[in-house]
Amino acid sequence: MSLDSAQQDSKDNMPMRHKAAGKTLPGYSAQPLEKKWRAGVLGATGLVGQRIVKLLSNHPWFELTEVAASERSSGKRYFEAARWHLDGPIPENARDLTVKGLEPTLDCDFVFSALDSSVAGGAEEDFARAGYPVVSNSKNHRMDAYVPLLIPEVNAAHLEAIPTQQKKCGYDRGFIVTNPNCSTAGLVLVLKPLADAFGLEKVFVVTLQAVSGAGYPGVATMDIQGNVIPFISGEEEKMETEPQKLLGKWDGSRFVDAGVGLTAHCNRVQVLDGHLECVSIGLKKIASLREVQEALRTFEVDAELAALPSALRHPILVMDEENRPQPRRDVDAGGGMAAVVGRVRECPLLDVKLTLLSHNLVRGAAGAAVMNAELLAARGFLTSPANQNQSVAEAVSK
Ligand code: NAP
Repeated sequence: MSLDSAQQDSKDNMPMRHKAAGKTLPGYSAQPLEKKWRAGVLGATGLVGQRIVKLLSNHPWFELTEVAASERSSGKRYFEAARWHLDGPIPENARDLTVKGLEPTLDCDFVFSALDSSVAGGAEEDFARAGYPVVSNSKNHRMDAYVPLLIPEVNAAHLEAIPTQQKKCGYDRGFIVTNPNCSTAGLVLVLKPLADAFGLEKVFVVTLQAVSGAGYPGVATMDIQGNVIPFISGEEEKMETEPQKLLGKWDGSRFVDAGVGLTAHCNRVQVLDGHLECVSIGLKKIASLREVQEALRTFEVDAELAALPSALRHPILVMDEENRPQPRRDVDAGGGMAAVVGRVRECPLLDVKLTLLSHNLVRGAAGAAVMNAELLAARGFLTSPANQNQSVAEAVSK
């Protein structure tokens, strides 16, 4: 698929987005959308939080009603508290909202969390305990026993762990769902069709990660200018553990790891947005290069996922040019939700090797969280905005 057709693919989903508003969620229980779900954003002033705020500015299912951050920001209006990093002005619906603190008394149906990990753990539990579904970006609960670590295209079935989480943690209507680390998100999306078609034995990955992955203000200019830093605290551990959970199974009582051999080398490079990853993969089943390329090119989500406003029907874009993907040129493919793959070739050490790129703040953070919330809404896990007293629905087995 060409880059243009991936962008078209993203546009092709748009009529679906607008069709959804005011109607029944496609393929699901009769969940009316006459009223949108009211969303709060914890950590709304940060790099990821701002991206979520922007994605919610014109969302067909969700409306932003609350923003929260640290004591430095609370009490101020959003435009005063947020040092806005994105192109274009602060969305009108966010500008004048008063930034709140982290007390779980926000006027919303669920919250996104883009909090710094120093506070995310406790705050997310407080919100879940107070009855809010929490859709988190932070690392704190990703590997918890009953918390789904979710990429809708990879492991939507893991949402079935939510009732167990509620029971074990003593949550009533609240719960926590997380998205993976920014460099893991693109990697696992690309590994998924290969795992399904051939099985995965070993993965060796070297990352070249953008500075925006470190939050704001991030790495000092004097450290990164004309330089590469061959260490990102905790990153290799995340890349070596999170894929096991993502590609593994929920067996009804626990998550069972995928058992893939994984090793990661993580580097910070002087790129603004977009993590590039050089990956060598050992497969369980012998496959030709053409079969591997075909599995990547033809990876397509089902009708349920394609109907989510943020979903791409083809979330993996394979490029044929020998010098692509490149962060500056390709990071926004599919509105930042595509994993862009290039240089698929034989590996003399393992079986196949490739280069992949994904937008760390969209596919790896804000866009991932918004899409997770869309799946939760579609599957009946968010309290219906038309009936605020309705309890969280049981998972729809798909
Ligand atoms: P960031 O730019 O540093 O923003 C951090 C946010 O947390 C700000 O809104 C900040 O509010 C708030 N915060 C900090 N200390 C707080 C406290 N004591 N109480 C309440 N709020 C507090 O970081 P980021 O890059 O957006 O990342 C946010 C989270 O997403 C992190 O957990 C990060 O690991 C994760 N993540 C980031 C990326 C990425 O590519 N950047 C990707 C995936 C996941 P103030 O503005 O008021 O200080």
